[in-house]
Amino acid sequence: MRTPLVAGNWKMNKTIAETRDLVFKMSLQLREINGVDKVLCPPFMSLMAASALLEGSGISLGAQNMHWEEKGAFTGEISPAMVKELCRYVILGHSERRAYFGETNEIVNRKLISAQTFDLTPIVCVGETLEQYESNRTREVVSAQTSQSLRDVSPAFASRIIVAYEPVWAIGTGKASNGIEANAVVKDIIRPALTELFGSETAQAIRVLYGGSVTASNAAEFFGQPDIDGALVGGASLKIDEFAAIAKAAA
Ligand code: PEP
Repeated sequence: MRTPLVAGNWKMNKTIAETRDLVFKMSLQLREINGVDKVLCPPFMSLMAASALLEGSGISLGAQNMHWEEKGAFTGEISPAMVKELCRYVILGHSERRAYFGETNEIVNRKLISAQTFDLTPIVCVGETLEQYESNRTREVVSAQTSQSLRDVSPAFASRIIVAYEPVWAIGTGKASNGIEANAVVKDIIRPALTELFGSETAQAIRVLYGGSVTASNAAEFFGQPDIDGALVGGASLKIDEFAAIAKAAA
C-alpha cells in the first residue's frame, strides 16, 4: 500500500507575511484531513516562518530546489544541509528549473544523490513538453528522464523517492491531462524504468504523483487511477479551499 501524498508548490509566490497568513489558515483545514501525507513548499525565504506555524500539525515542509554541494562558493544557492534544517522534502528537477535554469538529468541526479546524503525525501519531476507530446516522444523523453535522474542511489533510499509525472503542457495552463492517459504514462513508462533501476519490489513501493493543472474538480479523476498516488499542485495550492479539497480527495 502506498500512502497518498499531496504537495503544494507555491513557486515564487507569497512574501513572509503572506506566507504566515496562508499557512495558518490552510493548516486549520489540512490538519483535520487524515490518510494522506501533506506537504507545503513555499519559497526559501518563508520556510522558517512556515516551520514555526506547522510544528505539531502533521503537515510537512518541502523546498522547491537546492544545490548539490553542502557548502561553498556558490553565490545565491541554498545547500542541502540548510534545507534539511527546516524541511523533510525537496522538489528536484521541476520543469521550470529544467527550462529556465538549464537543469539536466545529470544535475538532477547529483541533487538526488545529495538528498540521499542529507536524508531528504526528494520529489523528482519528469514530463514531456508539448512539442515532444505532439511528436509522440513521451515514452523516449520520460523514460530517459526517469532512468537518468534517479540512478546511483541505494535501494533503501530509492523506495523513499517520490516521482511527479508533470506533462509540461499541463503545468499552469489549465489544460490538465486526463486520468487514463496520465495513468498509462506512469504504468507503462515510469514504473518500468523504475523496475529496471531498482527491481520490481522497490519500483512498486515508489509513489508517483500527477501534476499539471490539478484542481478540486479534476483531482478525483487522477486519484482514482491505480498507479497515481497523489498530486504535485501549483496554482491551486495557493487557494485554501481548493488545496484542502484536493487533499481530501487523495485521502
Ligand atoms: C507545478 O508547478 O508543479 C504544477 C503542477 O503547477 P499547476 O498545478 O499550476 O499546473
